[in-house]
Amino acid sequence: MNYRIGFGFDTHRLEEWKELWLGGVLVPHSKGAVGHSDADVLIHAICDALLGAAALGDIGTHFPDTSDEFKGIDSKILLQRTCALIRGKGYTIGNIDTTVVLQAPKITPYVSEMVITLRDVMGISQNQLSVKAKTSEKLGFIGREEGLSAYAVAIILESEI
Ligand code: MG
Repeated sequence: MNYRIGFGFDTHRLEEWKELWLGGVLVPHSKGAVGHSDADVLIHAICDALLGAAALGDIGTHFPDTSDEFKGIDSKILLQRTCALIRGKGYTIGNIDTTVVLQAPKITPYVSEMVITLRDVMGISQNQLSVKAKTSEKLGFIGREEGLSAYAVAIILESEI
């Protein structure tokens, strides 16, 4: 079995009166993430990790933020398409580990819903996906609540034909 690893990172600005979509879940908060799509940093980091593992470019290559097709799009659709793309190349998902970094709100109460939602979108088991959350100890742009980031690593397996 040929294992391949991929890494993904994403960051978005936070602004008042925007929705905060994270891991496919709408998290109630006074601020939300700004972006061309629904600005879901966790999903975007996962997409980049999967695409990176398959050496298939990045999320911007496949879903350009200059295209009207992806304006305001639900990032779960991008994740679904990413999974279809890597499966189409003969890969299966091993496991994915992620960390979201944001100062507020506390997202721990929403993590299990994120895992269930993303698991369903990707067609994987719950123990194949991990979502962790940290603050930046009030340091930098994340600490000032100006933005948030997410990191993801993914292992994919190349089917032997
Ligand atoms: Mg993004």
